[in-house]
Amino acid sequence: MELIELQGISKYYLTGDIKTPVLDEITLKIGRGEFVALMGPSGSGKTTLMNLLGCLDSATGGHYWLDSEDVGAMNLEARARLRSMKIGFIFQNFNLLARTTALDNLLMPLTYSTEKMSGDEARRRAVALLDRVGLSNRMDHEPSRLSGGQQQRVAIARSLMNRPPLIFADEPTGNLDSKTSEEVLALLETLNQEEGVTIILVTHDENVARHARRIIRIRDGRVEADEVRLPPASVQNAEPPQARSSGFMTQLVETIRTSLIGLRRNTLRAALTALGIIIGIASVIAMMEIGNGSAKSIQRTVASMGANNLTVFPGSAASGGVSFGSGSVMTLTPDDVIAVSNQCPAVRAAAPIVRSRTQVVFGNKNWVPSSIFGTTPAFLAIREWSMSQGEMFSDRDVRNANKVLVLGQRVVKELFGDQNPVGKEIRLNNVPFQVRGVLSRKGANMMGMDQDDIVLAPWTAIKFRVSAASLSNTNQSSASTATSSVNTLNKVYPGTTAMYPARSETQIANNPMPVRFVNIDQILAVSTSTEAMPQAIAQITNVLRERHRLQPGEPDDFSIRDMTEVTKALSSTTTMMTNLLLVVALISLVVGGVGIMNIMLVSVTERTREIGLRMAVGAPPKRILQQFLTEAILLCFLGGAVGILIGRLTAILVSWILRWPTEVSPAAIIAAFAVSASVGIIFGYYPAWKASRLDPITALRYE
Ligand code: ADP
Ligand code: MG
Repeated sequence: MELIELQGISKYYLTGDIKTPVLDEITLKIGRGEFVALMGPSGSGKTTLMNLLGCLDSATGGHYWLDSEDVGAMNLEARARLRSMKIGFIFQNFNLLARTTALDNLLMPLTYSTEKMSGDEARRRAVALLDRVGLSNRMDHEPSRLSGGQQQRVAIARSLMNRPPLIFADEPTGNLDSKTSEEVLALLETLNQEEGVTIILVTHDENVARHARRIIRIRDGRVEADEVRLPPASVQNAEPPQARSSGFMTQLVETIRTSLIGLRRNTLRAALTALGIIIGIASVIAMMEIGNGSAKSIQRTVASMGANNLTVFPGSAASGGVSFGSGSVMTLTPDDVIAVSNQCPAVRAAAPIVRSRTQVVFGNKNWVPSSIFGTTPAFLAIREWSMSQGEMFSDRDVRNANKVLVLGQRVVKELFGDQNPVGKEIRLNNVPFQVRGVLSRKGANMMGMDQDDIVLAPWTAIKFRVSAASLSNTNQSSASTATSSVNTLNKVYPGTTAMYPARSETQIANNPMPVRFVNIDQILAVSTSTEAMPQAIAQITNVLRERHRLQPGEPDDFSIRDMTEVTKALSSTTTMMTNLLLVVALISLVVGGVGIMNIMLVSVTERTREIGLRMAVGAPPKRILQQFLTEAILLCFLGGAVGILIGRLTAILVSWILRWPTEVSPAAIIAAFAVSASVGIIFGYYPAWKASRLDPITALRYE
C-alpha cells in the first residue's frame, strides 16, 4: 500500500444550516519518497486537504489510509500519536514558541514523542539538525532575534526532530523573500533527495512548485490535474521509531519543567495570581499558631485553677429513707489513694486529704485558717502550686506523722506579719508544729475563696495528732456526732471522778492509731489532660468499686466531682475559634482559587496558538490538560509554600514583638499544602480542560 491513499474524501463546513462544500470526492495516492506540490487558487481547499492529510482534521466523507492505517476510525489520542510519529509540519508563519531558544523549540516535539531518549541524546539530535539547516551559531537565539528565513529553517529542523517519514508544508515560503525562499526550498529538496522524506508542499506559486517532483492541481475541491515531473526519490529504510511510552516520572518532570518555564515568563503575573492563595494560607497559618498558643496558655491557666482536678468524696449514708448527705459514711482509705494513683493511667497524681478546722497559734497571735489539710507532697503537683519559701514536707514526714507544716500566704500574714515563718513553731489545737515552708500566692479560686488561707501538713499528723480526739468517728459509722457530743458534754460538765479513765490529748498524740483502720476525708486527683477527664473519672470509679467490693447494680459509695463546666466553657471557646478560622480560611482560599482560575483562563486564551502547535506536533489532549493543570497546581503550591513561610514569620514576629504565646502547628502546615494543591486542581481543572478541548486547526489560526 502507498504511504497515503485517499478515496472519495469530501469535506464541508457547516455555517449555521448552510453547508459549504470544500472538498469534493478526492481520490489520490502518494507514495514514499515523493515531493508533491499541491497547487490551486486561493480558497480552492488546499489547506483543508492538507489538514486532513496531517490528521489535524477529519473528513465528512470517504476514506483515508496513512501508512496502511485507517485514519477515519482513529480517536483524538491515536491521531496525536500518529502526528507525533509520522508527520512533521511546516507552517507559513513558522509558529515557533516565542521567548524560547531555537534549541528548545526543537526539543519541544520530543516531549510528546513515544520515543525514549536521554536528555543528552535529544540535545545532540537537535544540535545536529540546527547544524544541518545552517543555524549552528543561532542555537540560543529566540525567534524575535531571528530573520524570517532563519525562523523557517528552525521550523524545518523542528519538523524533523521526530524523524517523520512525511512532511507537510503549507505555503512555507509565503512570508519570505524570493532569495530566502530558494534557500528553504533547496533545503526541502535535499531532504527529499538525500533522505527520502516524503514532502507535501502547498503553494500557489509556480516558481515554488518547480522544486517538486509531482504537481497536483486542485480547483473548487477537486483534483484538476496531476503531473509527475520526476520519479520519487529512493527511500532509505530508516528504522521506524519504536512506540514506547516514556516513563511516567520523566513525563511528569518534563511537564513540571514546561510549567515552570511558563510561569517564569510572567513572574509578576504569577506572583499576583498566587497572592490570594498566599494571603489565605499565611493568615491561616499565623492565626493557627497564635490561636494554638493562646489556647495552650488559657488551658494552662485554667489547669492551674484546678480545671483538671477531681475530688472523690466518701459516700452518703441513708437510713429509713433519710439521707445523711455526702460524707456521712467514711469509705475512703489511704490505700484507695495509692490504688488510684497507681492503677489509673489517666490520673497524673492523687493525694489524700484529711480536713481539720482548728485554731492556729503563734506567740500571742491566733487565726483560724479556712482550710487545714492533712495530705501528701503530691498535693502541690496536683494543684500546680509551688513553694515561695522553705520547702514542702516529705513523704517520710507523712510516714512518721512528723509535726511539720507549710503555710499559705494569708496565714503567714495573719500570724507572722513581716517575720520569716520558716523554722518557727506554731500550735495547732495545742500541738506544736514546725513551719517547713511557705506556699506561693494563689489568690482567690473560682468561688471567690481565698486559696492562700491554708495550712498543709502530713495527713498522718493531722489525723492522729490534731484530730485524734475524734478518732472514734472512723470505720463506717455515722454515729460520730453522738460520740463527740458526749465528749462535749463531758467537757462542759466535767465529772469529779472518771469512771473510765480517758486518754489525755498528749497520750493520744503520742500513740497514733495504725493506718489500716484509718479513713480519709477526700481524695484529690488530677487527670493527665482536660481531654482525659472522662477517662480519669471512669478509671477511678472502676478502681474504687473494685476495692470496695461493690456488686454490679449497687450504687457507688463515693462520689466524684470535677470542673465540667469550666472544661466545657474552655473547649467550646477553642472550637468556636477554630471554626471561625476555618471559615476565614475557606473564604480567602475560594477567592484565591477564583483568581487562579481567571488567570489560567487568560493564559489559555493567550497561548491558544501554542496549544495548537503542541497538538500539531503530537501532543494528545490529555497532555495539554496535564500541563495546564500542573501549572495551576504548581502556582497554588508555590503560593502555599510562600504563604506558610509568611504565616510562620508573622507568628514568630508576633511572639517576638507582642510576646504573645504561639505554637507551631504541623497539622495546619500539612493541611495548607493539601488545601492549596486541591485549590489548584479544583480551580485549574476547567481552564485546563478548556485548553485540551481546543481544535488544533482553530487554535493554530487563532489571532
Ligand atoms: P486554500 O488553502 O486553498 O486557500 P482553504 O482550504 O483554506 O483554501 O479554504 C477552502 C474553503 O473553505 C474556503 O472557501 C474557505 O472559506 C472555507 N473554509 C475554510 N475553513 C473554514 C471554516 N472553518 N469554516 C467555514 N468555511 C471554511
Ligand atoms: Mg491556505
